[in-house]
Amino acid sequence: SPTRTPLMAGNWKMNLNHAEAVVLVQKLAWTLSDKRHDYGKVEVAVIPPFTDIRSVQTLVDGDRLQIKYGAQDVSPHASGAYTGEISAQMLAKLSCSYVVVGHSERRQYHAETDEVVNAKAKAALGEKITPIVCVGEGLDVRKAGEHVPYTMAQVEGSLAGLSRKQVAGLVIAYEPVWAIGTGEVATPEDAQEVCEAIRGQVRETYGDEAADAVRILYGGSVKAANVAGIMAKPDVDGALVGGASLDVDEFGGICRFY
Ligand code: PEP
Repeated sequence: SPTRTPLMAGNWKMNLNHAEAVVLVQKLAWTLSDKRHDYGKVEVAVIPPFTDIRSVQTLVDGDRLQIKYGAQDVSPHASGAYTGEISAQMLAKLSCSYVVVGHSERRQYHAETDEVVNAKAKAALGEKITPIVCVGEGLDVRKAGEHVPYTMAQVEGSLAGLSRKQVAGLVIAYEPVWAIGTGEVATPEDAQEVCEAIRGQVRETYGDEAADAVRILYGGSVKAANVAGIMAKPDVDGALVGGASLDVDEFGGICRFY
C-alpha cells in the first residue's frame, strides 16, 4: 500500500563497540547519499547494542542524519531492582524510535514467552517508542505445515490488550527461525503467505484502520540481491536485517532496493 512507508531496520545483534558503531552509521549515511536514497520513500533504522546507542544518538543529532535508531530489547518493568535490565524510559531519554521485542534469539535463549513480549511491547508504547514485535516459526513447525497457525498464536499473544490505535502504529516482523542467519531466505511467496495472514488477523481483531496501517516486515537472510523480490509482495512493508546490516554496501543496497 502506498500509505505505508517501508522500513529497513538493521539488527546488529551483539556486534560493534561504540566507536565501530559511529563509523558504520557514518559510512551508511555516505553510501545512502551516493545512492540518492529517498528517506521519505524508505525509512532506515539501525538497532545497535545498548552500549552504542548514546554514540549513535550524538552522531545522528550532530550531523542531522535521517537515519533512525532503536534498541534490541527492553525491560517490561518501569524501574527498580532488576539488575542488568534497561527500561523503556531510559531508551526514550536516548530518543530511540524503535525497540525490538521478542526476537527469536531472545525467545530461544532467554525463554521469552508471548506474555513477556506483550509486557515489553506495552512498556515501549508507554514511552512512545515503537515496538518491532518479532514472530515466526522454527523448522519443525514449518515442516509440519503449521507455520501460519503457530505464527498467528504468537501475534495474538504478543499484541494482547493493545488498542486499535497502538496496533496501527506497530511494526511486526515475521522472521521464520529457519531463515535467520542461515543463508536460507524464505521465498517471496513464503514471506507473503504469512505476512498476509498476519494482516488478516490484525484486521479481524483490530479493524481495517489498524490492518491498513500496521507495518509488517520480513526477516531472515535478507540481502541486497534478494530484497526486491520480497519487497514486491503486497503485505511486506520492509525488512529486519541481521548479518547484512553490518556490511554497508549490502545494507545500503537493501535500503535502496527500489
Ligand atoms: C535477524 O536477526 O533479525 C535476522 C533477520 O538475521 P539475518 O538477516 O542474519 O538472517
